Amino acid sequence: MAKKYAIGIDIGGTNVRVALVSRNGEVIRKIKEPTSEGILDSLFKATESLFSDDVAGIGIGVAGLIGRENGRVLISPNLHIIEKIDLTRELREKFAVPVFIENDANIAALGELWVGAGKGYSSFVLFTLGTGIGGGIVYDRKLLKVSAEIGHMSISADGEKCPCGNYGCLESYVSVRAVLSKAVSALETGRESLLRDCCGGNFYKLTTEDISKAALDGDNLARELLKNAGRYLGIGIANIINIMSPEAVILAGGLTGAWDIYVQEAIKEASRRALKELFDGIKIIPSSLMDDAGIIGSAGLVFQEYE
Ligand SMILES: [Zn+2]
Repeated sequence: MAKKYAIGIDIGGTNVRVALVSRNGEVIRKIKEPTSEGILDSLFKATESLFSDDVAGIGIGVAGLIGRENGRVLISPNLHIIEKIDLTRELREKFAVPVFIENDANIAALGELWVGAGKGYSSFVLFTLGTGIGGGIVYDRKLLKVSAEIGHMSISADGEKCPCGNYGCLESYVSVRAVLSKAVSALETGRESLLRDCCGGNFYKLTTEDISKAALDGDNLARELLKNAGRYLGIGIANIINIMSPEAVILAGGLTGAWDIYVQEAIKEASRRALKELFDGIKIIPSSLMDDAGIIGSAGLVFQEYE
């Protein structure tokens, strides 16, 4: 009889999540730990505590570029330690089950396709709006196993420097990192804003929640920051619509909390720039699995690849 469960692992720059997931995509138990240098040990321990004879395999999602031939993590800008170990092999040897690996935004898209916001669509593109910007593409109800680095599409010819080394990438305008750094620069030059009172007056500790909240309270600077980021996000979405014409665009991550300001601006901008015939009818919607998309999607990888 087919085994009932898979283990889904989601390795991000900040947290590692490990979960036992059923064949229906239901999370049975999950463990979350801060990402550290001793990542392999904590992964072994967490996996061991969830493992049983009823586990069909292990799926891993990692923030980074995955080597398609050998399943190694080639580059992980926020997690260099992971480039040095052969994670797939280590886990396969230790637990003696099939192990699969994918980029973290790709597995999040697979999670949304399986049991989340993408369930009813045959094609969609997921944008993960975090510290960086990731993407996952589903076409014909299949995850496209391509890099989908939509955060690094060039938006501005002479734009700002991106952590990838290029100038003018989408990520340099839209990511959590970009918005927070723009907030800090504005406050440093003396802009009046409710944000000044956040974090006990230390605006270097601002979070996106603070910005969303201030924006909803009518703060001009916070609104301006979100609208500006939303405008660039809209340009990115328009590019994707023109190239792929998906049925839906799904947005996940840190800044979507201020949906009415940030995302509405993005939708307005996308509608101005995308071809009208392609934009009409498209759905731009929030992720429904949020932080669980990665663990569910990586478990889904096991059921999909293995059986
Ligand atoms: Zn870039």
